[in-house]
Amino acid sequence: MGRTFIAIEEFKLEETELLFHFGPELFESFSDDGLYLKSPVDLKIKLITTGNDYYIRGQLRTSLLIECSRCLTEFEIKIDTSFNNIYTQSNGDISEEDEDIDESDLETSVIRDDRIDLIELIHEQLILHTPLKPLCREDCKGLCPQCGQDLNLKQCSCVLQKDTRFSQLKQFFNDYENPGLENDKD
Ligand SMILES: [Zn+2]
Ligand SMILES: [Zn+2]
Repeated sequence: MGRTFIAIEEFKLEETELLFHFGPELFESFSDDGLYLKSPVDLKIKLITTGNDYYIRGQLRTSLLIECSRCLTEFEIKIDTSFNNIYTQSNGDISEEDEDIDESDLETSVIRDDRIDLIELIHEQLILHTPLKPLCREDCKGLCPQCGQDLNLKQCSCVLQKDTRFSQLKQFFNDYENPGLENDKD
């Protein structure tokens, strides 16, 4: 399987390029966040350091199996993204308060235990690039709220019922406006 981290010693003053290829089975725990990997992850990483800061330029390729937010059909989306991360090394013990300050600074992350966990990095990138309301297609018609029929496949016969509901709603508001209801108060 190979390693799944970068050690801090690997950052040099000159650019270093590393290539990683991870099978999708490595990311099974990502399903907790609704991320199902459909293909392996190809990760190309360039490392460089100034001595104080540590820079990563990365390119990530994979594909995810994702559920349409309207019709719940699973479909595949391709992820092909570039990213730039900046890290600093934590100097000894940091109190929890200091950690909060570091995390609010979105630009720079702190390297813990002298290594950068690539699984964590991939997780972060996938979360960032997964749409919040994925659609299998732009004009997905979704499911009928009454019978659950996928309206992309065929129209169901619930339309009439919807009309009935609407007329019931109209009746409700008519009753509401009827001053006759006032009599119930006494
Ligand atoms: Zn859909
Ligand atoms: Zn229906």
